[in-house]
Amino acid sequence: MRLDGGVGRTYPLPVQGHGRILFSIPYNGDLGLVRWASLSGQVCEVYFGGWQGCDFSSAYVGLEPLRYAEVAALARFCRGQGIGTNLLLNKNPLFFDDIRRIFEGVRRLSRDAGLTCVTVSDPALVPLLRKEFPAIAVQSSIYMGVNSLVKARAAARLGVTSLCVDPEINRDFAALKDIAGLKAAFPRLRVKLLGVLRCYQGCPYAWRHADWGVLRGVLEAWSPRGWRETLGGRLDHDRCLFESDRGADEIRRPFIRPEDLGYYERHGLADVFKVAYREDSSERLKGVLTAYFDRRFDGNLFTLFSDEEVYAKGLVSCDNRLIPKGFVSRVMRCKGRCESCDYCASVAKRCVRAAPGSS
Ligand code: SF4
Repeated sequence: MRLDGGVGRTYPLPVQGHGRILFSIPYNGDLGLVRWASLSGQVCEVYFGGWQGCDFSSAYVGLEPLRYAEVAALARFCRGQGIGTNLLLNKNPLFFDDIRRIFEGVRRLSRDAGLTCVTVSDPALVPLLRKEFPAIAVQSSIYMGVNSLVKARAAARLGVTSLCVDPEINRDFAALKDIAGLKAAFPRLRVKLLGVLRCYQGCPYAWRHADWGVLRGVLEAWSPRGWRETLGGRLDHDRCLFESDRGADEIRRPFIRPEDLGYYERHGLADVFKVAYREDSSERLKGVLTAYFDRRFDGNLFTLFSDEEVYAKGLVSCDNRLIPKGFVSRVMRCKGRCESCDYCASVAKRCVRAAPGSS
């Protein structure tokens, strides 16, 4: 195996350090949305869950598996446009599942429609996939927790060819710069950021967010009355596992604004920006994608990251136009020493509004 993982297929990716960040977009069941987005010329990849019999992701987000014919049609369309395709196999752990079924699925879609990438969170699958499918890129899910140079190097050595890093380091300039530097040893490595984000910075439950439905079921069975208390006091049990009424926490959430993509480009910190979520409506995704394609958004910033009622109805809002110039360069180098810094609180005071009784 070559150091770079030997990825044979190519799709439009920016030249290292010189190109614009391109986008990985979700397939929500609407091929029309993908066609529309592809016209921007900024989409390098579409990601999607599996189909009946080969779905190792969708249960996470409460979606039904897709039909194979639908996935194949999507992949063929992407192939015709020179856009990559990324099958999510991000159930964690995956190693105890039927590996043969996974491999059959990958082989089938690859043969029929030219699959270019798979996403896994279980590192145990990486070397097996690389060996079996040397022409297909393997991407780390955010749930693999790649959040440092050491972990990124280990993942690359294992065979990961595309790193979707832990969003906890979205605002850690030094860590992202170090990881981008790995391309010297792994020339075809790509770094991807997920900046459309619902989780709070530092939430200890972030890596369980996707399987919250399963965790909740277990806890309810274990303690029908007291299960809520087992998770701690300040938790919102129906939407998220971390509740805060502090505006500063909303600003500290490691989202990436459309306007700030240029900062990541200029510093060569990422190649691809992943837009979530595949369970969202086309109407909503069009709005989010338009903001990122345009690198500008003049509305309530929080609606880009979450359609939860509290944000969608503007009960808690953030006027993106009021975010101060220099925001991204400040938070990228602050090292999270919030005990002695009130910057995010001051930004929140300026931009975040909460309707009475909404918190
Ligand atoms: S250290 Fe300051 S700028 Fe950084 S996250 Fe904390 S409050 Fe914000």
